[in-house]
Amino acid sequence: MEKYHFRYLFVIILLPKFLFSQISGHPSSIKWHHIESPYVNIIYPQGRYEEAKRIGNIITLMNENGQYNNQQKNRKIDLILQTRQVIANGYVGIGPYRSEFYATPQQNSYLSTNTDWLDLLTIHEYKHVHQLSDTRVGLTKLASYLLGQGGWAGLKFLAMPDWYAEANAIHSETNLTSGGRGRTPQFLARQKALLLDGKKFRYSQMRGGSFRYDLPDHYVFGHILYEFVERNYPEGTWGKVIDRAARYKHGPFYNFSTSLKKETGSRVRGIYKKAFDEYFQKISTYEKLENRVQNTENVLTKNVRTPTFYDYPFSIGDQMYALKSSFKETPYIIAIGPDKKEKRITSIGLNSEEYLGYRDQVFAWCEYERDPRWAFENYSNIYLYDLKSKTKNQLTKKGKYFSPDPNSSNQLVVAVKMDTSLQSKIVFINSNSGVISKEIIAYDNGFVSYPKWVNDEEIIYISRQNKEAAIYSYHIADGKHEQLTSANSHLINQPFVQDRKVIFTATFDGTDQIYSLDMDTKRVEKLTNESVGAYVPTIKGDSMVYQTITSRGSDLRILPTNKSEEFTIEERANRNEDVNIVDDLKPSEYAPKPYNRLGRLQLHSYAPSQDLARPGIQLYFENALSNIGGTAEIYYNVNEEAIQGNTSISFSSAYPVFTLNIAPAQRASLAFVPDSNQFKRYTFNEMNYGVVTSVPLRWISGNMSKLFLPSIGINYKYIYNNQEMFTPKELNSFTNLSLGLSISNLRRFARQNYGTRWGQEINASYRRSLYGPNGNVLQLRGNVYLPGLLKNHRIKMGGEYYQENFLNTYKFSNNFQYVRGGTAFAFNSARRFSFDYGLPLFYPEIGILDITYFKRSKTEYLW
Ligand SMILES: [Zn+2]
Repeated sequence: MEKYHFRYLFVIILLPKFLFSQISGHPSSIKWHHIESPYVNIIYPQGRYEEAKRIGNIITLMNENGQYNNQQKNRKIDLILQTRQVIANGYVGIGPYRSEFYATPQQNSYLSTNTDWLDLLTIHEYKHVHQLSDTRVGLTKLASYLLGQGGWAGLKFLAMPDWYAEANAIHSETNLTSGGRGRTPQFLARQKALLLDGKKFRYSQMRGGSFRYDLPDHYVFGHILYEFVERNYPEGTWGKVIDRAARYKHGPFYNFSTSLKKETGSRVRGIYKKAFDEYFQKISTYEKLENRVQNTENVLTKNVRTPTFYDYPFSIGDQMYALKSSFKETPYIIAIGPDKKEKRITSIGLNSEEYLGYRDQVFAWCEYERDPRWAFENYSNIYLYDLKSKTKNQLTKKGKYFSPDPNSSNQLVVAVKMDTSLQSKIVFINSNSGVISKEIIAYDNGFVSYPKWVNDEEIIYISRQNKEAAIYSYHIADGKHEQLTSANSHLINQPFVQDRKVIFTATFDGTDQIYSLDMDTKRVEKLTNESVGAYVPTIKGDSMVYQTITSRGSDLRILPTNKSEEFTIEERANRNEDVNIVDDLKPSEYAPKPYNRLGRLQLHSYAPSQDLARPGIQLYFENALSNIGGTAEIYYNVNEEAIQGNTSISFSSAYPVFTLNIAPAQRASLAFVPDSNQFKRYTFNEMNYGVVTSVPLRWISGNMSKLFLPSIGINYKYIYNNQEMFTPKELNSFTNLSLGLSISNLRRFARQNYGTRWGQEINASYRRSLYGPNGNVLQLRGNVYLPGLLKNHRIKMGGEYYQENFLNTYKFSNNFQYVRGGTAFAFNSARRFSFDYGLPLFYPEIGILDITYFKRSKTEYLW
């Protein structure tokens, strides 16, 4: 959903070698099964047949039902259902043609809405499959024949901008379910805040991004452009634009823009301007705009130029505590005094979703972690910070927990737990041992989010089930659930509980506002009337503090709570008109079979070599679980007038990764023959066999990313079939050994930072011949990163050492970075030190002809 693979574009342009030696991230312990239909091969972990079946049924509907299909024959695709990820995501890619679904949804429902996450993901991602088929016409189809999927992807990328692809998929989410991001106010909140604060941006800035403003991504601005054309031009306009563009009817340059002009009369910049003008008109006349102006008097946080974000406030005495991050700083907990003075409490590591829980001097949140070898096995663990003792503790290990909330006696933490069963549970965890003492599921069996303590005997939680959400309470002693609000299609998020009052964010009036619910009387009151939206509420005395989104990030505001009137929650007026694709599902069964993890090798792309001295062809292949992948190349060496080849294949199904390299070659060379006093051409055959074993380990925890990558390789050169009597003495078969080790420890950095401001990295390699001609070389390279004077500056100190005996018979190729002006002289060893100071200068953010975009000017001072 978030990412879309276009790596094949680079195949056409660059043809980098070993581009595809991807390393599988699927744990080798997973027992895979699969089901097949004419449209999809779904590969899933054993036990998840029901989920796979439902995905398969929706895809059948999106091929066979005239209301939902694209009137095309869509190629059968491999789809991998991943159940061990904590990040809600998915993608469809070509080169290889494949889709992956990450099955764990987010706590905040703005992404999935109240639709089942896998239903929504299927509708969104399969729309990307429709798009691929829709572009496989004309020149793009020809490219797919000539260059395989690489050619298809490359021309598709130029014919269909990423913003169109995502907006079109979001259009499907919204039109085929009762949810979808098109109905979600939070999805558009950032854009709305920028426009209402008078910030307008050029199309090139929207495309290229910004260091000065938190611009909405291509999903959001794409949505505004897409829906504008949908509303204002005849039905089917977009289809015609894409068809023209994919056929390249108007040549290679500005192809999409010209196609758009032929159908709508406006180029892409024109449509952008009209769409944003219309959107601005629409939101400017919105009745709540006055409140935006009024409420600025109640802001608790500082007004700064750098985009800064305050989230999840809590009030303790006269201090406010909140989660803070900015374009200059990674997230941390902060204390804000009445005078807006800020004090840093503790840093927060990387996580799958922003969240902070608090009760009685204890903060709770989650941090992301991954298995060192298997990238697709990752975790979300609970951390606690005690304000009194100023200590930070990791409570759980290797778990998938979300939204933790400590109780008032600090004995238990309530949280949401996910596992490979995909059934969400509410768990009660001992605050000292991390052991789960109790596990429950939602009353309606739905997806649970944001459990919160009411008192030590009772919690509330939100459940999403069957396109609807409601708030429930649960008594620990008698195990009774009670429904507190009516279930409906509106989104409910981020509750806070105090004195049997639940305050929360909900979309009841079409924007995100804050409501309060009395748990005993069930009376609901509306507390805010913000134009953009109000989020993450908390109570402070007789008032309420919440977050709003601004053009400079997000701030915290305060409002009295006593002036509110009763509010009746009503279902969306036009709810009955919703089309719901899942209502038309005909549940058909499949025949599940065990799946061989090494199966489905795809030769997905082929491309001519671009090296004129070596004309030939390169083939790229990979299997469905990407644990076998590689390239094969055959070419004619013009200089030697001989055919040569190279095959590289990687196996990454097991813990160590093996890469085999086989390169057969006819060789020709010249040798000086003293008798005749002239050079003579001679030929021979050569076979290179290489095998490299490596164990790529990567840890991500807190703010640090650590890498440990040892490797050992053996290369054997075998020479045979000498066609001349004469053979030079050096021309012997020989074996060489290579050892490598990369270690790094790098801190993540904020958007405006020049680069990481804390880290170390070292690379060591040693190569030697085992027999045959003598040769050996040692190379060491390392860097240390330190903070500079200002927050965005950084210092990098580097060193390099190289040693190879000048008198060695065999010289290894060398990539030592000589100091500028220096060259590879007859050294036995060389060393280099560097010191550089990096800082951003300014952010021009100017695009030229939609080809180049200058986002940042920066400089480095070298010593
Ligand atoms: Zn997408």
